[in-house]
Amino acid sequence: MHPNLAEDLARLPELLDAARGYAGEVLAGIADRPAASPHRAPQPAPLPDRGPGAEGAFQLFRDQWAPGFSASAGPRYLGFVTGGTTPAALVGDWLTSTFDQNAVSSLDSAAPVLERQTVGWLRELFGLPSHQGAFVSGATMSNFVGLAIAREWAGEQLGVSVAEDGVAALGDLAVLSGSPHSSTRKALAMLGLGRGRLRQVPALPGREAVDVDQLAAGLAALDGRPAIVVANAGTVNTVDFDDLRAIIALRQRFPFWLHVDAAFGGFAALSPQHAELVAGLDEADSVCADLHKWLNVPYDSAVQFTRHRDLQLRVFQNSAAYLGLPTEDPDFLHLVPENSRRLRALPTWFTLAAYGRDGHREVVERDIALARELGDRVAAMPHLRLLAPVRLNVVCFTLAENPTGERVGRLNRAVTESGEAFLTPTVHEGTPGLRAAFSSWRTTGPDVTRVADALRTAGDGLTGD
Ligand SMILES: *Cc1c(COP(=O)(O)O)cnc(C)c1O
Repeated sequence: MHPNLAEDLARLPELLDAARGYAGEVLAGIADRPAASPHRAPQPAPLPDRGPGAEGAFQLFRDQWAPGFSASAGPRYLGFVTGGTTPAALVGDWLTSTFDQNAVSSLDSAAPVLERQTVGWLRELFGLPSHQGAFVSGATMSNFVGLAIAREWAGEQLGVSVAEDGVAALGDLAVLSGSPHSSTRKALAMLGLGRGRLRQVPALPGREAVDVDQLAAGLAALDGRPAIVVANAGTVNTVDFDDLRAIIALRQRFPFWLHVDAAFGGFAALSPQHAELVAGLDEADSVCADLHKWLNVPYDSAVQFTRHRDLQLRVFQNSAAYLGLPTEDPDFLHLVPENSRRLRALPTWFTLAAYGRDGHREVVERDIALARELGDRVAAMPHLRLLAPVRLNVVCFTLAENPTGERVGRLNRAVTESGEAFLTPTVHEGTPGLRAAFSSWRTTGPDVTRVADALRTAGDGLTGD
């Protein structure tokens, strides 16, 4: 054994204690760490020949890299849609690496059974009794898997198997959606269907929710050819929801696969007051839900659901003599793009086992209330105005006067440089703006006050233009 490895093996408990102590310090200070630390990376270093061992590497990381890491796990990182990590999820993540299971087949380990049970809990959480699912790395992969199964379904309608004969056998396939996330187009590119295949259906006036009459007209124009409809349950700009029940009703008139991108909007199901937004979700053919956002498990984690496992198996089955054939309850390597895979389910299992439905409902409802509160404060600030009502957990707003990209960018940089919060820019109906997305279990009322204060101070710096 290499001497560095032998030495580290002998000192493993000590090394883990040091890492644990440091992790505890980082998390104890996470609320005071700058929300974002852009441009603080060290110069590239050459690959070491021998290396200093784990302790030396740890020192290098602490000194050179950690200062440039953001507080994305903290309470005022409101960019993109970013969750934190609950205490139980963190413990689960550490143990995922400790046991280092390959959650592929059940020949050697109960790990895949744990994943199945965890998916079962998620089905209950989201109200998807008709679906089965598997863990993937994020909502992009979840959308990819859902649309891959949809592609196979469309082939079946036309009497071809895309998995066997390739996507050319399919001919033209229409994909319709109102306000799709960029990952839908990316998935279409990866699937060989093409980004250009997406037909964007107009939204309702002043909304990001699809106009269902226009969707019906788009489907009618296909003359009975099968299509894919991507419904959006929670758009990133304004968290708008397509009317799922109305879309489902169209199935009586037109043949289409319904995929629902509910990456974070699906969590509305946890709040009785907001569950109506995703009513009917179980009737979708496939559903995407992200877990590293509002479930507050660490990156990377999402789940894909479908009611059509037979078709899923046709696309993803991976048979070899040493792997065995898919059985009644197929191993995960027959269901998702990966073969070897991390036991990503464990942090989710931990957080659901620790806090249950009730604990996670509290996080969702608190974040919604905090977003409303920031929305009210923004609306009351003379230099800002809301770009959309706060429907769930995102505040989308801009400068009240002259909201050019340049001025909004300056406002955003001032907030980032204050270290108090991190928001991300967007454009809504042609107007540049900012988004503050609440999805962390750590965020509380005083954080909203600090974000509002940071916006006020940053706004003061802009006057005089
Ligand atoms: C975040 C998001 C995605 C992409 O998710 P990743 O986990 O980053 O791959 C897709 N759709 C929606 C609606 C999202 O919010």
